Amino acid sequence: MGKTEGQKLEEKLCFKPKHIAKDHPKEIEKAIEFAEGYKTFLDHSKIERECVQYSVAMAEKAGYKPFGRGIKGKSGDKFYYVNRGKNLFLVTLGKKPLNEGIHFNIAHIDSPRIDLKPNPLYETEELAYFKTHYYGGIKKYQWATIPLALHGRIMTAEGKAIDLDFGEKEGDPVLVITDLLPHLGRSQGERKLSEGIKGEELNVLLGSLPVEDTEVKEAFKLKILSILHDQYGITEKDFMRSELTLVPAQKAVDVGLDNSMVGAYGQDDKVCAYTALMAELESKNPEYTSLTALVDKEEIGSTGNTGMESDALLHFIEDLAECEGERVRDILRNSLCLSSDVNAAYDPTFSDVYEKQNSSFFNHGPVLTKYTGVRGKGGSNDASAETMQKVIGYMEEAGVPWQIGELGKVDEGGGGTIAMFMGNMDVDTVDLGVAVLSMHAPFELTAKLDVYYTYKAFLAFNK
Ligand code: MN
Ligand code: MN
Repeated sequence: MGKTEGQKLEEKLCFKPKHIAKDHPKEIEKAIEFAEGYKTFLDHSKIERECVQYSVAMAEKAGYKPFGRGIKGKSGDKFYYVNRGKNLFLVTLGKKPLNEGIHFNIAHIDSPRIDLKPNPLYETEELAYFKTHYYGGIKKYQWATIPLALHGRIMTAEGKAIDLDFGEKEGDPVLVITDLLPHLGRSQGERKLSEGIKGEELNVLLGSLPVEDTEVKEAFKLKILSILHDQYGITEKDFMRSELTLVPAQKAVDVGLDNSMVGAYGQDDKVCAYTALMAELESKNPEYTSLTALVDKEEIGSTGNTGMESDALLHFIEDLAECEGERVRDILRNSLCLSSDVNAAYDPTFSDVYEKQNSSFFNHGPVLTKYTGVRGKGGSNDASAETMQKVIGYMEEAGVPWQIGELGKVDEGGGGTIAMFMGNMDVDTVDLGVAVLSMHAPFELTAKLDVYYTYKAFLAFNK
């Protein structure tokens, strides 16, 4: 039976993003395969330093050379630059001269977590603990009674770096924040959910044995110090020369009876970091020079000299411009940037907070987020119609299904991304990324088809 006039009109005029599996069933296997590399990447990237190290190894294998000032490169040449161990800038020189603009793809590689306080170690009632201060937006109660691993770097007085990933290797003990048993949880149950576990209750249990010396006052604390000294050669003062953090000890896993999803810590925003990185590594002779940046500190406002509020990226662009004798302002105003970050996938269980027509859904492809912000788009980059046209154009030309997304109902909450900082630099910018369920939880979810098609969108952008 033929289509009715109304159906034909509907097809012609209406926009209805479809479930990718319905339109591209053959791609499911490829998406599942692509997720294997992604899961390995996540397991090696629990903190930004590790992510940079792992990504640099991948880049070197793909032929990237360390960037140096004054390099004379030609189209197709690939360079990388590391800022303070926590940012990675990757460049593939394009066919067009730099002053026609760069295609930026920027994702953040820091994720919410539990940082140690500068002076963290204490004992009480024959138990040893770390005091902590959480990093980024978390629901604190989610971080109790889950296995935690200790990651980070300690600098010795002599300037030697000691890197830790305690709790990750097979057979390693893990650490944990305790919670109250329900039998004694009556008054705790009356607290607001946001105070189910309070900030100062995020204490991490380290041990329950003393050193064998009755003359020592804090034998349980000393026991932990002696173990750390044996293992890493450090003393208590070295905590003040460290960046140590607790992250979920669990590895990335497949989720669903249909194996369609990835469950892991830190997918905001390592899902965009990985897909951007893969697209960058594979870009051969792009029209425009591509610059893929993996950045830090997004979760606490992009502050510091490894966050996007700093001039670190600008200085790198200045060095790049110098190589070709171009003016930075010409490059920037002709550039196009994907601020590649995740959006909240529609969660039917909590449908109240979403406005369905402008929400992103699992398996509907990369999410184009025109604006973020709070209370009337406050703090948002708010991409222009022209920018939307260009980015939608790249995706449609490559046959990549995509969807739009908004971060929940108007005035329900909100958030921001690094888009505003690229906008401040005079670059046309829009957010594009993957829809995530349980965002900022210790165990976040993405759909494999979305991960795969976000990579494909980035490939199209780098063509
Ligand atoms: Mn993010
Ligand atoms: Mn986030």
